[in-house]
Amino acid sequence: MTTIGILALQGGIEEHQAHLNRLGIKHIVAVKKAGQLAACQGLILPGGESTAIGKTLRESPLLQAITGFAKQGKPVWGTCAGLILLAQNISGENNYLGLLQISVCRNGYGRQLDSFKTTAVIPEVSEQPLPLVFIRAPYISQIGPGVKVLLKLNQKIVAVKQKNIIATSFHPELTDDLSFHRYFLELVQTANDQKK
Ligand code: GLN
Repeated sequence: MTTIGILALQGGIEEHQAHLNRLGIKHIVAVKKAGQLAACQGLILPGGESTAIGKTLRESPLLQAITGFAKQGKPVWGTCAGLILLAQNISGENNYLGLLQISVCRNGYGRQLDSFKTTAVIPEVSEQPLPLVFIRAPYISQIGPGVKVLLKLNQKIVAVKQKNIIATSFHPELTDDLSFHRYFLELVQTANDQKK
């Protein structure tokens, strides 16, 4: 039985939940308190407003608890605002979790390209082109030595993996495609198998 947590302080929680349900995950925890993490094998940090989620996180034992969760090797996936929460460096702002060796530009696409859709192949995830939805998205301007680029789009890094942590500037939960959630669940499965 796999239990996946979704950080539920603010942002797009139901959409991730629906995708996980479609992939057969029945146990999903809307994580609001640190104690709820113990039941989870993987954690999704959803999109939303990183300043709002981050402020609540900073005032809660959840910040330390998520750090501990990731350091145990349990998979964590940040989408959009979730990516910002994971980043070590955020342009012009203090970081939150600082678990991922990346520098990010918040709202990096500026006003003109505020939100857009495209498709791209992410070989690590699927051979098929995946639909990608960007909404006031950040992009990654720098990565540390332990970080693998999963997708670069028009010279900008938009998906990365560092051991058990993945982060995407875009929102797979807002498309019909389940590939990225399936990929995350595979990471959870692998981490679980390694524990045995
Ligand atoms: N622009 C938002 C932020 O900086 C992120 C947008 C999103 O998650 N779709 O937090």
